[in-house]
Amino acid sequence: MAPVDAASFHDALIQRLGSERVLTGAAPMAAYESDALTAFRARPRAVVLVESAEEVVDVVRLCAAAEVPFLARGSGTSLSGGSLPVDDGVVIAMNRLNRILEVDPVRRIAVVEPGVVNLAVSDAAAPYGLYYSPDPSSQSVCTIGGNLAFNSGGAHCLKYGMTSNHVLGLEVVLPDGEVVELGGDSLEGVGPDLVGLFVGSEGLFGIATKITLRLLPRPETFFTLLAAYDSLAAAGEAVAAVVASGLLPGAMEIMDNLAIEAAEAAVGAGYPLDAEGLLIVELEGEKQQVAAESELLLEVVRQSKPYLEHIASDADDRMRIWKGRKSAFSAVGRLSPDYIVQDGVVPRSRLGEALTRIQRLGERHGIRVANVFHAGDGNLHPLILFDGRVEGDLERAEELAGEILRLCIDLGGSITGEHGVGMEKRQYLGEMFDDADLDAMRRIRTAIDPGELANRGKMFPDAEAPALLSHGPHPLEVAGVISRE
Ligand SMILES: Cc1cc2nc3c(=O)[nH]c(=O)nc-3n(C[C@H](O)[C@H](O)[C@H](O)COP(=O)(O)OP(=O)(O)OC[C@H]3O[C@@H](n4cnc5c(N)ncnc54)[C@H](O)[C@@H]3O)c2cc1C
Repeated sequence: MAPVDAASFHDALIQRLGSERVLTGAAPMAAYESDALTAFRARPRAVVLVESAEEVVDVVRLCAAAEVPFLARGSGTSLSGGSLPVDDGVVIAMNRLNRILEVDPVRRIAVVEPGVVNLAVSDAAAPYGLYYSPDPSSQSVCTIGGNLAFNSGGAHCLKYGMTSNHVLGLEVVLPDGEVVELGGDSLEGVGPDLVGLFVGSEGLFGIATKITLRLLPRPETFFTLLAAYDSLAAAGEAVAAVVASGLLPGAMEIMDNLAIEAAEAAVGAGYPLDAEGLLIVELEGEKQQVAAESELLLEVVRQSKPYLEHIASDADDRMRIWKGRKSAFSAVGRLSPDYIVQDGVVPRSRLGEALTRIQRLGERHGIRVANVFHAGDGNLHPLILFDGRVEGDLERAEELAGEILRLCIDLGGSITGEHGVGMEKRQYLGEMFDDADLDAMRRIRTAIDPGELANRGKMFPDAEAPALLSHGPHPLEVAGVISRE
C-alpha cells in the first residue's frame, strides 16, 4: 500500500472500510472514550470497526504511513485504562473479529479470533469435555485479545496458571503492518519464547489477529467450601495453612464484609452478612483424589476456627457461590457511585499484614475500602469507594490507591497482578523497577515499534499521556444509558 499523508488519512480509512465503519464525532465515539476505569476519558481521532485480519493489517499500515497512533480495543473492560484512547489516535474495535475458527479435541486446542469472548471458548469446547481455563470475573464479556494483552487471570488460575500458560500461538500485526506468526500449536516451542514476550505486552507490540489456545479436560468433580470468619486476618491465616499443608486447590478467594454486603445485595449468593472474612476454597480433579484431599482441607480449615462452614451441595449451589464472588466488582457499584478497583500483589505470607495496613490507610483518608482477592496467589483487589461528584474525592481516592501500591512494593510484591499497568499505574512502574530495567523495557518497545504508535502513552512513566477530557459525568450517563442513582 502506498504511504498516505496525514491529511488524506481519514479518506483512506473510509475508502477501505466504508463510512459506516469509521466513526468520528463525539456522539458515535462516546462509548469508546473510556474503559472500566471510568474516571478517565479521552477522545480518539476515529474509531474503526474492523471485520477481518486483512482490514486490521490495512488500518495499521495506514496508521504507520501517516504516523497516527492506534490501539486495539476488545470489550473495554480494562480496569487500568489500557483501552483508553490514545491522543488523536485511532481505536481499532476488534469485537467483530469474533469467530472460533477451530476446536480440535485431539490436539486439545482452539484457534480463535481476538474478539471472541472468553466464556465462548469454553462453551465451544464443552461438547468435547474440554474448557479454557483462565476465568476472569469479566469472562462473559471480555475478549481473548484483551486477556492476552494483560495476561489476565481469574479465580481458577491458582492451579493452572494465567493466560500466558494457555496461549500456544499467535498471528500478530506488528506496528508497521508486518504480519508475523509466533509460537505454534504446542507448548514445546523451538527458540526464544516470543509468545511469552507478546502476552502481557498491553497492546504495545501490535495487534493479535489469530490466537491458538490450549484447552484442558473438564475436572471430573469439584469440592467447594465456604468458610466464614469473624476477622479478615483469620481467613488470611487459613489460606497460609492450606498452602503449608501441601494442597493445591483450583481456587482460594477471600472477600471482606463490605464486598460480601455488595455481592449479597446484587445476586443473593447466600453469604453470611455478619462475616468479617469469607474464604472460598475449591478442589477439583478426579473423584478419588478430590475425596481424599477434601478430608485434609476440612481438617486444615477447621483448625483456623471459622464460625460457619458450608460445602456446596450440588452444581447449582457451587454456581451460586461463584456468582457472588464473580459479581463482587460490579456489585460494589451498589455501595458507592464510583470506585477504583486496585490490583496489587503481596507475598502470601504477608497477606494479613497487608490487609491490616490497607484498612488503616483507608481510615486515615476517611475512605471506605472493600477487599476481594485471589488469596492463593497474594493478588489483592482493594475497591476504593468514592463519589466523583464531590470535589476532590477522586483525587483522594487516587492518592489512597497509590499508597496501596507503594505498600505492595514495600512488602516485596508488585503493582499489578492481572489488570496491567495501563494508564493508571504508569507513574509507579519506576518505583518497582530501576532505571536499567526500565531502559531494557524501552529498548524492546522501540525495537518493535520505533514510532511508538501502538497504544502510545501507556505503561511507561515518561510516555506522553493521552490528553484527558475533564473528569465528570460519564458520556453514557449523560446519554441515559447508565445511572448512578
Ligand atoms: C467487573 C470486572 C471484573 C474483572 N475481573 C477480572 C479478573 O478476574 N481477572 C483479570 O485479569 N481481569 C479482570 N478484569 C479486567 C478486564 O476484564 C481484563 O483486563 C480483560 O482481559 C480485558 O479484556 P477486554 O476485551 O475488555 O480488553 P480491553 O479493555 O478492550 O483492552 C485491554 C487491553 O488489551 C489490548 N488489546 C485488546 N485486543 C487486543 C488485540 N487483539 N491485540 C493486542 N492487544 C489487544 C488493548 O489495547 C488494551 O491495552 C475485570 C474487569 C471488570 C470490569
